[in-house]
Amino acid sequence: MMIASAAVPPFMKNGFVVSCEETREAVIIDPGDEVDALVAEVASGGLEPRAILLTHAHLDHITGVKRAKDALRVPVWLHRADLFLYEDVVEQGRMFGLRVEAQPAPDAFYEPGTPLTFGNHVVDIRHTPGHCPGGVCLAIGHRDGQRRELFVGDTLFAGSIGRTDLPGGDLGTLLASIHDVLFRYPDDSVVHAGHGPDTTIGAERRSNPFLR
Ligand SMILES: [Zn+2]
Ligand SMILES: [Zn+2]
Repeated sequence: MMIASAAVPPFMKNGFVVSCEETREAVIIDPGDEVDALVAEVASGGLEPRAILLTHAHLDHITGVKRAKDALRVPVWLHRADLFLYEDVVEQGRMFGLRVEAQPAPDAFYEPGTPLTFGNHVVDIRHTPGHCPGGVCLAIGHRDGQRRELFVGDTLFAGSIGRTDLPGGDLGTLLASIHDVLFRYPDDSVVHAGHGPDTTIGAERRSNPFLR
């Protein structure tokens, strides 16, 4: 599995291109304002994009969906419970004083328990509400192995957790998602957060001050 990431101001939200080194098939995760870097990564790597996967529908994670879809011509996947946020992206921008364009409708909704695939890799979809109703963890690994790297959106960060004061957020629900879904993964599982550096499940289990 190969992973490229990019982030730009003002949100410094991480967007990812995850690809299968054996087939060069790839998925794009959370294209935002850094979308041009993600599209360039697909081109320079000679990758074959298969899907745009969204961890959730806050504006910083979706402002690049239209440009990514126009450039790559692949379907956009979202959790159904975040559709109200996705369809409200222009108003979300207004709340931050930003002019944001509407995004193309999602092509498909995740069905938890039904994994997606690209090349020889699988994407297990884990519903992790709390930061917002339709947040998911995308757990990606080789189909022949158990190891998974976790793309957790804004549910968990290195040393912090997602905010729960936005529409549909709930702290108890967020903590349950972290403890009952994310912390089921082994300590050496790499966590790719929506903002900031990578971490591991073990590091957050041991030292995250919000999870004691
Ligand atoms: Zn968010
Ligand atoms: Zn975010």
